[in-house]
Amino acid sequence: MHIYQTTINRAEKVTGIGLHSGKNVTIKIKPAPVNSGITFIRKDLNNFSIKAISENVVDTRLSTVIGRNGNIVQTVEHFMSALSALGIDNLIIEVDGPEMPIMDGSSIPFIYLIKEAGIRKFSAKKRYIHIKNKIEIKDHDKKVSLLPSNQFKISFFLDYKHPLIDKQFFEIDLSKYSYVEEISRARTFGFLEDVESLRKMNLALGGSLDNAVVISGNKILNKDGLRYHNEFVRHKILDAIGDLYLLGHPIIGSYSGFKAGHDLNSKLCSSVLASNDFWEFVEMPDKIYDRSFNPFYDTVSESFLLPA
Ligand SMILES: [Zn+2]
Repeated sequence: MHIYQTTINRAEKVTGIGLHSGKNVTIKIKPAPVNSGITFIRKDLNNFSIKAISENVVDTRLSTVIGRNGNIVQTVEHFMSALSALGIDNLIIEVDGPEMPIMDGSSIPFIYLIKEAGIRKFSAKKRYIHIKNKIEIKDHDKKVSLLPSNQFKISFFLDYKHPLIDKQFFEIDLSKYSYVEEISRARTFGFLEDVESLRKMNLALGGSLDNAVVISGNKILNKDGLRYHNEFVRHKILDAIGDLYLLGHPIIGSYSGFKAGHDLNSKLCSSVLASNDFWEFVEMPDKIYDRSFNPFYDTVSESFLLPA
């Protein structure tokens, strides 16, 4: 069995609020040709294009920001996570401002958007980044690594000095378990005090209980509470999947994150791409994977795949 590249079947639009600007943003997703990858287009800047690849990452402090010549698109990670999960290789995303809409703070609205657009298979083979040797990046007590594996596995450990979050560990083998079920609904989270100080800097103007889990003191302010008992660590996994997709290809390997964030994920991607001592491209996964391997995009999205 070969695995083929995909794009979407037809254009779709969605509008939502920008987390930092507080303004409405409309995105339009469009089919893109084979081997073209994921490209963001700033409609408001004369169709300025920015490829979603790690060398275009320009800021990782509050979210993953890609840019070129000073033109940026902020908060691409949740959208990239949905694309990775559904195995979308080629896509154009038109945006009419400097950031992606935050939607509900998770990636499920983007999963629905792509489902609405439908997925189209090309006859060109998908290229994977197969990790051959361990790569690790450390920064004080934070750490990320990629290890050889026959599947795409992710694990994450977080440790917040806060009783509602505390230490959380979660791991998932995405060839066996559904991203949509287990990861996609996990929302971003923050502390009310931080939101207030960000607002003084004109940031997080669109942040609300509609697009984040917000903690104040020892309480979760969202009326309906959490979507998963360990929603925080699941969101970190959602973020990592999105950040890793800036490698430009899906990974066959095992990622683990220890108290890490966008910054280390981005450095990890740069280190991978800087040297091919650690990885190789593969096109025919069945030569490398064990027989049980089932790329998770196929298990998740086969029901709405369309023939090429
Ligand atoms: Zn996030």
